Amino acid sequence: MYKCWHHLGVNNLVVGNVLLNKIFTNYNVIARYMKGEDYLDDAKCKECKYSIVCGGGCPDLRLNNPSSKKNETYCSIFKNNMHSFLDIKYSKL
Ligand code: SF4
Repeated sequence: MYKCWHHLGVNNLVVGNVLLNKIFTNYNVIARYMKGEDYLDDAKCKECKYSIVCGGGCPDLRLNNPSSKKNETYCSIFKNNMHSFLDIKYSKL
């Protein structure tokens, strides 16, 4: 098992194996992905009005792609497109 689809095939990011009845084996990776880059510790996210729908975006991008922090590529697609999404949703009602 992996914490993320991005990790498939990366042996040091395996977190467990249900077939071997070893549900969790790599607590370091589990802890890092659950709390290592918590968006609630991010000042921008704390102030962001989209945090309730975003949840801080992709943890893998936050942890492993420092340039994404600068560019905020981990932000929800809703952040810059909410009006368009609402227009589309409303037009379908
Ligand atoms: S949209 Fe960006 S700034 Fe806002 S909560 Fe999500 S990750 Fe944080």
